[in-house]
Amino acid sequence: MAQTVVILLGAPGAGKGTQAVRLAEALGMPHVSTGDLFRANLAGGTPLGEKARGFMDQGELVPDELVLEMLFDRVAQDDCQAGYLLDGFPRTMAQAMALTQALGDQRPTVINIDVPDEAIERRIVERRSCKDCGAIYHLTFNPTSVEGVCDRCGGELFQRKDDTSEVVRTRLQEYHAKTEPLVSYYTDLCGLCTVPGQNSPQEVFEACLACLGPGSNAANSSSKPTDHLKTPCDNSQKEVGL
Ligand SMILES: [Zn+2]
Repeated sequence: MAQTVVILLGAPGAGKGTQAVRLAEALGMPHVSTGDLFRANLAGGTPLGEKARGFMDQGELVPDELVLEMLFDRVAQDDCQAGYLLDGFPRTMAQAMALTQALGDQRPTVINIDVPDEAIERRIVERRSCKDCGAIYHLTFNPTSVEGVCDRCGGELFQRKDDTSEVVRTRLQEYHAKTEPLVSYYTDLCGLCTVPGQNSPQEVFEACLACLGPGSNAANSSSKPTDHLKTPCDNSQKEVGL
């Protein structure tokens, strides 16, 4: 049986990571993160890891072909027989085209989690974490009962230094320039399912599952109504996926 390859697209802060973990679990497919693969190959001193280290020692970027080699080395393992869900790859047109070539006749199932920039900025800039237990809050959507104090452990809340408008805007600009073109690329290549990412994490999850449901080439996802796909973005103040 052919493997089902699931690709999640979406801006940084759109909630891809959260959904990737849940979807992989629901589908019984490994969640393959190229970042993790990279670290594992380097730490394990594998031949691919050593090759990558060679480029890094020269101060060069690791070529996409090498990242793909690590990826295909991983997905050849038994647990990926039915399929796998990609996280963090592809991020550029060059990577997407290299992946298409490597997959041959196989077409991925692509889900685009769509959240407007302003909403992403607000999610991230108003995010606060507890210094002691790591709990995450949001000033508007998920506030603590006492301002600045963790509900769970009484610890002090702080804002991570990367969670500023400047940093978020820079990351979004990079996303629009390099990754967003993949949306039309995959629309043309194999069709793509767009999910409004402003709904609650549970609703986004169900909408993603619906994309993978009957009619798609996903392995064993359950059937879900597709109404979520048709409703416009919900701006009500629900808990957001953080
Ligand atoms: Zn705490």
